[in-house]
Amino acid sequence: MIVQEIPANGTTPATNGTSTTPSTPPLHAVVIGAGIGGLLAAIGLRFDGHSVTVLDQASSFGEVGAGMRIPPNSFKLLHRWGIDLTYMKKTYSNGNRFLRYDDGHVIADMPHGIPEWDFGGSYLMVHRADYHTVLLAKARELGVDVQANRRVDGYDWDAPAALLSDGSRVTGDLLVVADGVQSKARKAFQGHALPPVDTGDISYRVLVPGQDMLSDPDMRDLISQPWVSSWCGPDAHVIGYPVRGGEIYNVVFCVAESTMNDQKLAENETKLVIDDNAELVERFAKWEPRVRKLAALTGKGFLKWRLYDLDMVDHWAHPSGKAVLLGDASHPMLPYMASGAAMACEDAAVLRKSLQGATPATLADAIKTYERVRQPRASALQRWGRQLQAAYHLPDGPQQEERDAAMAQDNEKNPIYWGHNERRAWLFGHDAEEWGQSKGEKTNGQAKQ
Ligand SMILES: Cc1cc2nc3c(=O)[nH]c(=O)nc-3n(C[C@H](O)[C@H](O)[C@H](O)COP(=O)(O)OP(=O)(O)OC[C@H]3O[C@@H](n4cnc5c(N)ncnc54)[C@H](O)[C@@H]3O)c2cc1C
Repeated sequence: MIVQEIPANGTTPATNGTSTTPSTPPLHAVVIGAGIGGLLAAIGLRFDGHSVTVLDQASSFGEVGAGMRIPPNSFKLLHRWGIDLTYMKKTYSNGNRFLRYDDGHVIADMPHGIPEWDFGGSYLMVHRADYHTVLLAKARELGVDVQANRRVDGYDWDAPAALLSDGSRVTGDLLVVADGVQSKARKAFQGHALPPVDTGDISYRVLVPGQDMLSDPDMRDLISQPWVSSWCGPDAHVIGYPVRGGEIYNVVFCVAESTMNDQKLAENETKLVIDDNAELVERFAKWEPRVRKLAALTGKGFLKWRLYDLDMVDHWAHPSGKAVLLGDASHPMLPYMASGAAMACEDAAVLRKSLQGATPATLADAIKTYERVRQPRASALQRWGRQLQAAYHLPDGPQQEERDAAMAQDNEKNPIYWGHNERRAWLFGHDAEEWGQSKGEKTNGQAKQ
């Protein structure tokens, strides 16, 4: 058996950040998972001078071909940690636009205004692979050791160490487990199995060439006016927005699985490639012309995903006091709040702050703080994702009419999270590094319901 021991406190602190050098010796963190969550945790910890090793099972690094949104609460942390998005192709969002599914009339606009001014950061719409590439490059530039082909098959929680499929073990002071929605490690934190719950919805994720849309007078505005457009209809909604400065239009068809007859996902399968868009075209045949065109433009070879969430993962800090869960592993959520990766970014920020001044002897308290600060906010977002699922998918009738009327009002009755300015400020204005005894730690994570 190969035994590869990586010593604690093995490398020198990052030199190109602006973080205050901690007076305590740096820790060695072993991060499991090089997804967006794992990389952000690695960057945040390395920024403070800790030595970090990241292990991922994949043979090469990357993200799926799809869009995602980076809201201001996440953007401001990226900016602070020196993650430069200048050279990444991106689109600045106008805000959220809700449309009637059958005739396309605008039910409500929820503009972001000037998010830099109001919330301290931009609201970006990007290609996931571009974002992941920037994070990976930044992690490496800071001196994070990111390793591919490193599947973790087990853990020694007391060492602590990650046990790899090749028989080797990687030890450190702290394990940061960011192994995603299907986390194998979650069970060890909870003391019982806690598999993610199938929400009954699936999503089809498609990238349409922007050029095809710019040349069509009906479609052009979807590119040139960069809203996140959401068409809400019975048992389905469609979200679309331009990424890479309009080179690509990202579309997600979110549908109750019971209303689709195409290739089924196997029991534990999370995603598969669909080769024929006939079923999708048929499913949206009665929707307004732009949605029909988007369905037709999907072509072949697009992704079908099963959507999972969980109400609440109770334990993010392992009883050993030497491991934490982070990202989708700790708070799998429906994508309807567009906040899963942003929550992982906030996790990374709070973990970073919690570990400042921590030593192996005080680690258990530090990671309990991380758990305590992060859980209420992340679980509020998980609940809101579920509420949006119900609100988005109403059949036509009195409830839907009530929903549409409420969508235009800036108050708590607005069923869309961003429709109420106070809630929006709670979500986007949040600074995950602004907490602590002197800064009202107790109120930091309180949910805005
Ligand atoms: C349709 C859709 C749209 C979304 N849109 C947005 C959005 O607009 N904005 C937003 O903020 N969020 C969005 N999200 C959520 C976001 O994508 C996730 O929250 C985020 O990507 C989770 O990152 P993660 O690093 O926690 O997990 P993952 O990305 O799943 O990464 C886990 C990593 O762990 C590795 N791994 C797993 N097991 C092992 C093992 N045993 N050994 C070694 N490595 C392992 C995997 O290979 C993978 O690289 C969306 C999600 C969906 C489904």
